[in-house]
Amino acid sequence: MNLQNIEVSTLPGVGPKRLQAIESLGIKSIYDLLFYFPFRYEDMEVKSLDEAVDQEKILLKGVVASDPVVAHFGYRKNRLNVRILVENESIMITFFNQPWLKDKFETGNEVAVYGKWNETRRALTGIKVIGDSHSEGSIDSVYSVNKNIHQKTLVNLIKQAFDKYQDDIQTVIPSEIREKYELLDDQKIVKGMHFPDSESESETARRSAKFREFFLFECGIQSIKARDRQDGDGIEEKYDQSFVDQFLSTLPFKLTDSQSKVVDEILADMKSSHHMNRLLQGDVGSGKTVVAVIAMLASVTAGYQAAIMAPTEILAQQHFDKISKLLTPLKLKVGILTGSQTKKEHDTIAGNIANGQINVIVGTHALIQDSVSFKNLGFIVIDEQHRFGVNQRKALREKGNNPDVLAMTATPIPRTLAITTYGDMDVSRIDELPAGRKAIETYWIRSQKIEQMYKFVQKQLQDDAQVYVVTPLISESEKIDLKNAELIFDKFNELYAPKYHIGLLHGQMPNDEKESVMDEFSSHKIDVLVSTTVIEVGVDVPNATVMVIYDANRFGLSQLHQLRGRVGRGDKQSYCILIADPKNDIALERMKILTSTTDGFVLAEEDLKMRGSGDLLGNKQSGLPDFKVGNPITDINILETAQIEAEQIFKDSNQLEKPENKVLKSFLSAEFEQINNFD
Ligand code: ADP
Ligand code: MG
Repeated sequence: MNLQNIEVSTLPGVGPKRLQAIESLGIKSIYDLLFYFPFRYEDMEVKSLDEAVDQEKILLKGVVASDPVVAHFGYRKNRLNVRILVENESIMITFFNQPWLKDKFETGNEVAVYGKWNETRRALTGIKVIGDSHSEGSIDSVYSVNKNIHQKTLVNLIKQAFDKYQDDIQTVIPSEIREKYELLDDQKIVKGMHFPDSESESETARRSAKFREFFLFECGIQSIKARDRQDGDGIEEKYDQSFVDQFLSTLPFKLTDSQSKVVDEILADMKSSHHMNRLLQGDVGSGKTVVAVIAMLASVTAGYQAAIMAPTEILAQQHFDKISKLLTPLKLKVGILTGSQTKKEHDTIAGNIANGQINVIVGTHALIQDSVSFKNLGFIVIDEQHRFGVNQRKALREKGNNPDVLAMTATPIPRTLAITTYGDMDVSRIDELPAGRKAIETYWIRSQKIEQMYKFVQKQLQDDAQVYVVTPLISESEKIDLKNAELIFDKFNELYAPKYHIGLLHGQMPNDEKESVMDEFSSHKIDVLVSTTVIEVGVDVPNATVMVIYDANRFGLSQLHQLRGRVGRGDKQSYCILIADPKNDIALERMKILTSTTDGFVLAEEDLKMRGSGDLLGNKQSGLPDFKVGNPITDINILETAQIEAEQIFKDSNQLEKPENKVLKSFLSAEFEQINNFD
């Protein structure tokens, strides 16, 4: 009997109304009901207000201080406001479009609310109200329910379903794997998750449920990969090796071993008939661009066009300059397409892309416009790939006939993300920097000591150094941010001009002005470049050796690492000075980590831990998949084990046909569609 095909209405007392309520939780079958597990905020403790960090999630506990008020606005939108008293401070809590939650707030009662903290407004945007039945410190397990259905009703239904169908619960994880890791079968998992008789039963059930969830997810990824391999409908790029070798000999440097290794991996993929979907990860400054250029060149010698898409115009322009310099002598035609070009320029270039005159095209999002079509796009590079949404990457792929894809990122990928979000990609890593690079020295000072920085910069300028000065987006208004950058610009002029030349760069400048400022900085006509964060990704001026970051506590670790990576790109000693007045432990911790390591991998892992999964990549779309039981960050060991086992199963296609894997196979084919949806 397949419980996925049995409706909840087979349970006594479930009429149309209750059925609808149940469905509103996403429960359609008896299987869904049995596997609708209680959630638990396992590693979440109630925090005090001074531990709250702007824009991060926190659990606060307090006493309801006002009656909740629901206000309606726009089309079917509403907002629930309620004040709670936390440590004698009245905090405003706002929930959007969950008006029924007002029943949870009774004046004078204690509540715990999980939500996103806004430091400026000292307010919380609520995500969940935690159980009505919480005891000191810890939070009891609760089911996620909504206005249509009560906890009690739900638990009763689960109980009924379990009594009636428990013997029909089939176990999906093959017994060999379960024995190896001492995991429960599915019947025991369901029992232990919902109705444990002891703490240890509950724990074993939860551990097993996590493995089960991760394992099934990884099987989904593996089947996508297997299908990719099987299809063999990629492009076989028969490139000209001697041409590639000739190009390598013209480079002003020798590739590092790491670069050579990834070039080999990429070229092997290109030559084979299967579709390449590869992620190139290398820390800032490790030299990914030249690897991409080699691959694009190879693709052109095989008769295809190649494209590279970058997230900003500055970066696209920089790539264009470099790539033209490298490839034009070889008689390749390189073009650039960006949003700021005139219609005439756009049309000319788009025409040359369509008729195949341009071999290598560099661009921004402008490349994925409808007006752009390629003659024969065979290879695409997506630079700083985490800056693009899934759909944008897909749109570029669709400009060709299943072109090979090389996605590059300077943001090191924590193991968790490598396994989940990028699980269907092959990963190449550049794990060394070009020889002669010196580790960047990083210092953190408080703003009251800012004179020290001025003196340091003065000294560096005397030694002929070039300096970046970056200020964050402080407000949502670009005008105010700009003013901030302008004030700093004035200050530096006052201190160092006219002997040294100070430049200003910000997002509101017209593109040709941005370009000319960057050019002047590259050619050392500008000594100090004051900039908003437009400078953040990819910019490469090897002579710049000092990076000063104002209000560094406003940036996340990854972003600070990216910014710092703008220096240390040549063989001179480089420095990074963080000016920050951290207001809480987490911000303080960030400064300490940054001054103690330049290892991007360590930083990314720390960042993921501190910020939580959802926020690392900014948007849900490119973030982690939503697991129900397991937490891919804290349960990374279980996740990795599950991945290894899933890989084994898919290694040879006969495995799934074995009798002991029959349940798994039928389960996967039922779930496959759903699993596929995460991309
Ligand atoms: P990223 O990986 O951050 O994109 P880039 O590709 O911009 O790094 O390279 C950083 C700098 O290192 C560039 O100036 C590039 O020319 C230089 N570079 C790349 N590979 C080597 C190498 N093998 N030896 C020396 N310098 C290199
Ligand atoms: Mg780069």
